Amino acid sequence: MKQSLRLGRIAGIPVGVHWSVLVIAALIAVSLAGAVLPGAVPGQAPRLYWVLAVVTAVLFFASLLAHELAHALVARWRAIPVRSITLWLFGGVTQMEGEARTPRGELEISLVGPLTSLAVGGIAFVVAVYAPGPRLVMSALMWLALMNLLLGVFNLLPGAPLDGGRVLHAVVWWRTGDRFRADRAAARAGQGLGLLLIAAGVAEVLFTTWAGGLWLMIIGWFLAGAAGTEMTARSAREGLEGVRIKDVMTPLPDLAPAWLDVGEFVSSVASRSHQTVFPVVAFGGEPVGSVTLEELAAVPPARRGSTRLGDLARPLAPERVVGPDAEAIVLLERPALGALAAVVTEGGQITGMVTAQDMARMIRLALLRRSG
Ligand SMILES: [Zn+2]
Repeated sequence: MKQSLRLGRIAGIPVGVHWSVLVIAALIAVSLAGAVLPGAVPGQAPRLYWVLAVVTAVLFFASLLAHELAHALVARWRAIPVRSITLWLFGGVTQMEGEARTPRGELEISLVGPLTSLAVGGIAFVVAVYAPGPRLVMSALMWLALMNLLLGVFNLLPGAPLDGGRVLHAVVWWRTGDRFRADRAAARAGQGLGLLLIAAGVAEVLFTTWAGGLWLMIIGWFLAGAAGTEMTARSAREGLEGVRIKDVMTPLPDLAPAWLDVGEFVSSVASRSHQTVFPVVAFGGEPVGSVTLEELAAVPPARRGSTRLGDLARPLAPERVVGPDAEAIVLLERPALGALAAVVTEGGQITGMVTAQDMARMIRLALLRRSG
């Protein structure tokens, strides 16, 4: 999910919105100002409806954000780093590095989002019913309450990739101790749920109104598709069981000494090597970064003699240096940022590297292994 628009950071977590949110926000404001609010309290000034509609639409996205923040904060509390939160067409996505290590952790992280929505909805409902205030404001609040309650209930439906699917996953994992079996159960349930929603949408189009039915069909189609994608990712994970880094790496790669200049390196190593990416090493042999043929070619010929590889290198995060016996699955949790996914060291010496191509090959082989 690309963040088209950065909103800033909350509790240190980058928050952004996808462009589809702007379309949905506009649709919500139009339906509130044009139908919902005038239907509830007729005869007010149109400008009043519009102001309230826009405020309500913004509050609706704020409550979506609260749902995602709840996931993110509990994940962080469970020691899983959170990369970002993005709001989009179907709600929010919280991107985490890695997954819960225990069923209990997974259960907590997945449940807290829908519970937040239900709590926000419940509080708004009580205020809308019991608090004194202008009827128009109360009916906007009631709409907000119903949407949040609906959101909480919908997200609890037991199928991946919904929160309820993760709850199901955690429960099956806990009952059977078999994470892969839980993967399959959650993904199948997600596909089944998607098809069910599509069927309900078709029935609604046939027998009542087309608009609500169409929306159900779109959501169902999206769910079934996402569950299928998740199934593939999970299958790859399963096929990677027992596979080590040394099985997938490119062994003994040509290295790029940080102190060499681009001209020397191109004539001595790069022009003879079969690689398109090179680990950059410091004087003591430790990996400090990576450089690609493309990056080398981008240096103007006049500056090739004065640019050192060390200045050109894309820095290598410490977690991208791995041992040969580590499980290959860790690579899936930190997908390749560029051409180089990891550098493999043993006793301080570089014995291999894992490139983006190695990763692609590894995933295809894992899927083959699964279907065989
Ligand atoms: Zn959620």
